[in-house]
Amino acid sequence: MTLAMPKPDAEAMARLPDLLTRLKGVLPADNVIVDPRGLKPYECDALTAYRQPPLAVFLPETVAQVAAILTACDALGIKVVPRGGGTSLSGGSFPLADGVLLAMGKFNRVLEVDIENRCARVQPGVTNLAISKAVEHLGFYYAPDPSSQIACSIGGNVAENSGGVHCLKYGLTTNNLLGLEVVLIDGSVIRLGGKHLDAAGYDLMGVLTGSEGLLGVVTEVTVRILPKPSTARALLIGFPSVESAGDAVAKTIAAGIIPAGMEMMDRPAIHAAEAFCNAGYPLDVEALSIVELDGPPAEVDDLMQRVSEIARDCGAVSIRASNSEDERLAFWAGRKAAFPAVGRLSPDYLCMDGTIPRHRLAEVLTGITRLSGKHGLRVANVFHAGDGNLHPLILYDANLPGELDRAEAFGADILRLCVEVGGVLTGEHGVGIEKRDLMGTMFDEIDLAHQERLKCAFDPNHRLNPGKVFPVLHRCAELGRMHVHRGQLPFPDLPRF
Ligand SMILES: Cc1cc2nc3c(=O)[nH]c(=O)nc-3n(C[C@H](O)[C@H](O)[C@H](O)COP(=O)(O)OP(=O)(O)OC[C@H]3O[C@@H](n4cnc5c(N)ncnc54)[C@H](O)[C@@H]3O)c2cc1C
Repeated sequence: MTLAMPKPDAEAMARLPDLLTRLKGVLPADNVIVDPRGLKPYECDALTAYRQPPLAVFLPETVAQVAAILTACDALGIKVVPRGGGTSLSGGSFPLADGVLLAMGKFNRVLEVDIENRCARVQPGVTNLAISKAVEHLGFYYAPDPSSQIACSIGGNVAENSGGVHCLKYGLTTNNLLGLEVVLIDGSVIRLGGKHLDAAGYDLMGVLTGSEGLLGVVTEVTVRILPKPSTARALLIGFPSVESAGDAVAKTIAAGIIPAGMEMMDRPAIHAAEAFCNAGYPLDVEALSIVELDGPPAEVDDLMQRVSEIARDCGAVSIRASNSEDERLAFWAGRKAAFPAVGRLSPDYLCMDGTIPRHRLAEVLTGITRLSGKHGLRVANVFHAGDGNLHPLILYDANLPGELDRAEAFGADILRLCVEVGGVLTGEHGVGIEKRDLMGTMFDEIDLAHQERLKCAFDPNHRLNPGKVFPVLHRCAELGRMHVHRGQLPFPDLPRF
């Protein structure tokens, strides 16, 4: 492990028996895991390079149980890591050796489908895909669609503000949320938003969305559901270079067309995906773009033509249009399976997630190729091109000494490059532990101090998911008294958490 985590607090660990005694009448015995074999499946999330068992796992089933666990942990000084499906790629649900894991998998019910208000009320452990499944017979769906949608939970999506291939047109999780119920560390339950379209007061739902489990535990989510478009068709477009493919993306958006999805893969990713699921991808191209257009049939036909013309003008060498729903899904199957497909090229891979202005795409991809040479590691690129959201997959072998360190250094260089060209450290996977120590490349000390103050307002003792997101977490009392000036990083005189 190369990332530093706070040293486990042995005194807090010794208080586990007290915690279990306090929760005896609250949680059924079956919902508490403390034996090492039972803890094993929880020792990592999808950032599998990092592993350690938590102190205990609690599986609450009611809001009252969540509140009781949080208040007991706060009183005893024990940390809490919320967990949904455990698919975080940034180590957001990575367990702490001196903290309990609050696994929300038993909150798995769709509570209400309200077509008149075009929304669904669900518990946080419901998977992303299950929401669309619950409303599809009514002709509706939930738009944000992470590739992990079969396994990730809506609670995790809220905490990471997750995206997916259809977020270019329909927005990220934050744009599709109407309401939240959240339990705070002191056990209080707050309800934010609701079925109505806007709420008075500060946008606390916006603050909670993307807060990576550091501010509260989500116990209910109201999402917007949309009528399924009458037609959806996809184009599979091959390009002789990533530059020409990037050019076509920028020109399509500049022409005023917002496709439902606009994805790209480079040569290594195309070959891996094709070998994995025979999606029918051309193998003689350097870049492949999948563009989906949806809406009424006449509009879709017109847009298909316009996008094809732009692609041809940019040098596209092959264009295929889906002519059936099966064919459209086959086009997407390769893209959706790209991560596991790339996993077959190498024993391990790190999936990076940075976002850049679209017009810098070609330049950044050239930079990534250069960095691949510098670090001596292969890379395959899959990206939500329309959003400028890159997912370079760095291939490495954890069994070879030093390769994980090199892979991480390569990843950090890619993210620095994204920030240098005016982009951001994360498009959708969150900061977690993975990008925590790079936060200073994007935010100065004043930005970070204000973000920490927000954390302090919700969780003054830093019990919820500490060690994630913030490179340094200061004691709230000192931070409150401090006047932060530029040039102070990393606040050397203050006691660190
Ligand atoms: C193969 C693969 C493909 C992926 N593709 C995408 C993609 O296309 N787009 C995308 O955005 N992401 C993608 N991801 C990343 C991941 O699936 C998302 O970040 C997802 O939202 C995590 O959800 P989860 O339920 O697994 O959360 P977890 O991993 O369990 O937790 C993630 C974070 O949410 C917090 N959390 C979980 N539940 C709660 C709750 N109830 N209350 C408060 N905090 C909570 C945790 O503390 C943690 O910080 C992918 C991951 C994999 C492995």
